[in-house]
Amino acid sequence: MANEPEALTKAERYPAADIGEQIRDICPQSIEIVDGLRQHGFEAYVVGGCIRDLMLGGQPKDFDVATDARPDDVVKLFKRARVVGRRFQIVHVRNGREVVEVTTFRAAHDARDTDDHESEQSDTGLLLRDNVYGDLCGDAIRRDFTVNALYFCPQSNEIIDYVGAMADIKNKTLRVIGDPVTRYQEDPVRMLRAVRFHAKLGFALAPETADALRNNGHLLHQVAPARMFDEVIKLFLGGAAAKTLDIILDFDLLQYLFPATAEALEDGQEYALELIQATMQNTDTRIAADKPVTPAFMYAAVLWPAVIELREACLDQGMYKDDALREAAHAATMDQLQTTAIPKRFSIPMREIWDLQSRLHLKDGKRAEKLRAHPRFRAAYDFILLREQAGENLEGLGEWWTRYQEENPVDESARPAPSKRRPPRKRRRRPPRNQQSQGNQ
Ligand code: ATP
Ligand code: MG
Repeated sequence: MANEPEALTKAERYPAADIGEQIRDICPQSIEIVDGLRQHGFEAYVVGGCIRDLMLGGQPKDFDVATDARPDDVVKLFKRARVVGRRFQIVHVRNGREVVEVTTFRAAHDARDTDDHESEQSDTGLLLRDNVYGDLCGDAIRRDFTVNALYFCPQSNEIIDYVGAMADIKNKTLRVIGDPVTRYQEDPVRMLRAVRFHAKLGFALAPETADALRNNGHLLHQVAPARMFDEVIKLFLGGAAAKTLDIILDFDLLQYLFPATAEALEDGQEYALELIQATMQNTDTRIAADKPVTPAFMYAAVLWPAVIELREACLDQGMYKDDALREAAHAATMDQLQTTAIPKRFSIPMREIWDLQSRLHLKDGKRAEKLRAHPRFRAAYDFILLREQAGENLEGLGEWWTRYQEENPVDESARPAPSKRRPPRKRRRRPPRNQQSQGNQ
């Protein structure tokens, strides 16, 4: 084939069966992008997790394209395309509703020998920049796991395999491509990806992949908090949280994700483990039932054991109960931000859920009605139930609120019907400057 390099002869090629048809059904946009690139003389394939998931009979989350076109070329070819990332540049091509990630073939390289701007590696082997471009074969061996390195060629309707991925899929094995320690050093997030795919696919870890995972957790300290947050969300809000947690505990990795929680578990807080496990099971059940889940609730639950420990310390210092909880919540949040970011849109509701844990005790008279109207009431109530399920004694608080809601059903008809159209935003006219400060005088 005109577009393909010689190295391809070394690859195993398999008939794609109906994979091409499925991709055309689910994401014709990715095939259009491949076709568009090929028409301009570039090589291009659909690659990665989507091929893996289709081979396993699953539903891919997203579609990726790999090509020898440079990011600049891709941007020129497609109207709605933009380059994202610096460490690892990719192009997001929007086609209809779908965003397809287009990456340029990477090459294996020893960045320490180069002084260009395209690659950069720290003393510990961490890749600070990985934009050295190469060919298809090089691209395959730069990917993380064998099962993630399968390429689909729509032209020949074949799957191309450089790394023995087909055998690993058949044997249900997750194997890092190359030396696992080096590959984890280059990018420690691959360890979290190993955990995630181990849980999600139910594949066994190849022995070296597992050993390196057990011995190199400390590398996770090098990952930027914002990227850690993204990975934690994928780990625990991906539908296999309970299994993921088991693996994380088995490999002793919790200390690198939630250090204060890991410490609380070590200190032997009785219900802490049960609480986190129940949260993860609850999250999986909600996802399976297509119910919404939020990082705010997950974080509130996982950090709760840390909040409790800090609250005890504050109480020992003589603080009032409510002040102690507020102070502990603040300290636990600040601590966690060193490890994973928590965007404000999640940290604020997380703190509200915590705050309501003490306020839900104050339920006399009109207070209950007011509390129930709080936008975070439902989450806070669910959290009370989880705490009780985990063995905390809240003197029947969950049951009280369950009964209260049964006895006082919300009159749905009284609520304004949700309108599909958003009402026009009222424009508030800004008072003239000289009037603005009057209220404060
Ligand atoms: P899913 O989308 O189901 O989470 P995926 O395998 O598609 O899984 P993506 O994050 O979408 O994962 O990445 C697409 C592909 O890019 C992967 O299949 C893999 O080949 C490659 N890849 C992603 N992250 C890395 C990494 N940190 N190191 C090496 N290759 C990676
Ligand atoms: Mg993907």
